[in-house]
This record gives sequence, structure tokens and C-alpha cells, in this order.
Amino acid sequence: MANKWCVRAFEILGLLVLSAGLASGQVGQTQITKWQYGKSAAVSLTYDDGSINQFRVAVPIMDTFGLPATFFIITGDIPGSRYHGTFIGRPTNAIVQETANAPTNKDNFLERASAIGFLGYPEAIDYHTRAGEVFDEGKDFDKAYQLIDEAYAKVRQGVFKRAAEHLNSAGHRERITWEELIALANRGYEFASHTVTHPRLAALDDANLVYELEKSRQDILDHLGFKHTFSVECPYGTENPRAVQSALQRYQVARNHMPDSFVDDLDRWNTMDPAGSKKEYVRWQQGALTKTPMTLMKSWVDTIASRDNIWLVLVFHGVNGKGWEPTTDDELKEYFAYIKAKEDRLWIATFQDVTKYIRERMHSEVRSYRDGETILVVLRDNLTDPSYDLPLTLKTNVASAWQTVEVHQGERVKHVEVVHQNGQGYVLYQAVPNAEAVMIRPVQP
Ligand SMILES: [Zn+2]
Repeated sequence: MANKWCVRAFEILGLLVLSAGLASGQVGQTQITKWQYGKSAAVSLTYDDGSINQFRVAVPIMDTFGLPATFFIITGDIPGSRYHGTFIGRPTNAIVQETANAPTNKDNFLERASAIGFLGYPEAIDYHTRAGEVFDEGKDFDKAYQLIDEAYAKVRQGVFKRAAEHLNSAGHRERITWEELIALANRGYEFASHTVTHPRLAALDDANLVYELEKSRQDILDHLGFKHTFSVECPYGTENPRAVQSALQRYQVARNHMPDSFVDDLDRWNTMDPAGSKKEYVRWQQGALTKTPMTLMKSWVDTIASRDNIWLVLVFHGVNGKGWEPTTDDELKEYFAYIKAKEDRLWIATFQDVTKYIRERMHSEVRSYRDGETILVVLRDNLTDPSYDLPLTLKTNVASAWQTVEVHQGERVKHVEVVHQNGQGYVLYQAVPNAEAVMIRPVQP
């Protein structure tokens, strides 16, 4: 059967390859819908930092609604990871000694800020974070240098407690395991990189910046596989160009910054109204923090459902007291029910799937041909990375008398009901780019 159709496809191609694509409204005319399944907007649920209640509390709630999500995980935190936090560079005692005589400046800041968190003093990590934040803001570099000088002075004076003493006071923190993450990945959840140790990437020198991005990717690749090496979020939502560039050399997409010309990228701090965008797509990020009112969170969903070009990327952190700015299980239940109730208009998908859909569609060409009762559709994209394998939704006009069609692509065959609207008929179906031509023909009643 498949062979027969294959031969038939070549016959039709031979007959019609010289004809132009069909005009709008004609039977056979085909377009790639803006969003998967012909929906009006997209929503992605994303979680940062891998705090334990995301898995213990939020996952069971999402399971009840059948919602997918993407987790940006700090890989050095996970037991069994090959790579943990470490300083890449000169022996650190040489660096500590130099700080006694030479103040921190623009030439030595990155090395010192990279090393300070890995000298064995947990309290020093806070200095890395604070100095890195000031440095990333790019306004008061002297303040960043002072913080690093202060931290190294405390190291030299023995003020900081060693890691072991510190752990006794901090207690033990429950952590997710790779085995649990594998089980969740197998159920459709996406995992993505949030670096090895969650540093301020802007304050790292090149060797340490690369380590944080590459070794996190390597542990995810080793434990979860290639599919989960698609997305990254540089900690603290940094837009530092050096950090973001480095991330985009190693991952297909960053939540920090999406450089694609057809996307208006509105991060969590951007107050622009997404409805004002003139671009084909808007990636609109919103963070649900502890004090974010439920009415505001629901209004984001209402906004995208009333437009046709907005991808709402929701950012969650802590849940039920564990993690930064936690939300509660009751809030998640109410909010997810609200999103789910609008699913007829919203495509709810992982961060990587929405990215793939947008890029595949914008880099695709679709051509269609008609030969009597048969429609042939050829879908091609020019993306070369093997990650881009997501089927796209096509909408093809068919004769209004048709009730059901058979859609063939290679070995895949599906019966699809014709939708009748204003005296015309169309079908929605999925097709994989750069695969066999799609053949559509009516099913005789
Ligand atoms: Zn984070």
C-alpha cells in the first residue's frame, strides 16, 4: 500500500512540478498554522533552580491536568553528576596571596570573582553573588571590586567558616535524583540547563563561564539524552551579552534572550504591552512570585487568548515554602485549572517545542498541487540542526463536498474530518518537514 502511494506521488510530482503553488481559497491551497493544532497562542510552564517541591508538589498537580513543563536544573546539585562546582584556573592560594597586595581591578576581577565561591567557604558564595550582581548591572564597578576585596580579606583573616562546620548549621536539603528526572523525562517533561552551580555568569572569566555551560550540558546529555540539551537559562535572567552569546553557542535557545528577527522578546522586567507588537511572534515572560495576585496571573492568560501571536512563558521558582519566591499548591491548582479551561485556544507545550514550532514554521516553505481527487503537499525547512524534528500543523483547503480525508505521509496514515466554514472545507493535520510529500484524498462514504 505504502509503495503504491509512493509511486503515485512521483507520478503527480512529474505531472505538476512545473505548476505554481495554488492560490488562496483554492482546493489544495495549504498553509502552516501559526501555532500547533491551529490554536491562537502558546503557553509554556517553566520552573527554575530544581527546588524539591517543584517535583514533590507541582508535578502531581500538573499530572492531574495533563500539563507539560520545562525545568531549568542546576546540575552540580544533583547526586551522581560528574561535574560539580569548581574553579578552573591557577592554584587558588596564589590568587588569595595576591589579594593581600594588589587591590581588585578590571584586569583581575573576573578571575577573583570566579574563584571566591570555590575556596571551601559557603559564606563567600554570597560575595560572588553580590559582586556579580553589581558587576552585571554595569554601573558601579568599583563597588563590585570592593566586595571582592572584602571577601578575600575575610578569607585571609580566617573569618569564614569551613564548609563542614557550615553544613551542620544549615542542615541537609532534600535533592532530586537523576533516576527521578529520567522517569519524569520519559513522561514528557522537559529538562534544561541552569548551569552547574547557578553563578553570576557575567562575573566569570572565560574558562569558568564555559565550564558552567558545557559541563552542565554534558551531565544532562549523559543522564537524560540529547533531547534535553536544547534549552538553557543563564541564572538571574542575565542579559549580559558575553554570557548569553556563550550560552547560545552551546544550546539552541536561551530563556534569557531570543535573537530571532521575527520574535519580540519581552523578558520578565519588560513592561511593554505585548498586544502592541508588530512582529510575527511575541515571547512574553511573566514570573509568578509569592505576592503576584491571582487576578494578574489570570489576566496574562486572557491577554494571549485574545490575540494570535503571543507565547506566554511562565516562570515559577519555589513551591510551598521551598525555593525562591514560592507559590502555593492551592495557587498552582487554581491557576492551572484556569489555563486548562482555555485549552481550546491555547497550545500548552514545553519551552523547546514552542521554540521549534516557531523556528520551523518561519524557515519552512510549503507547496501544494492538485490532481483531481488527490492533493499533494510538500513541506521543506532549511534548518540543519537535527533537533528540529517537530511536526507542524498544516491547513489545507479541500472540496466542500468532502467529509473525511485520508492523510498520508510516508508510512503514517490518518483519517481527518473536514471542517466546513462559509461554504468551504478545510482539514488540519500534522506533517514532518523534510520528510515524504503529504498525500490527501477523500474517503468514500
Ligand atoms: Zn535560578
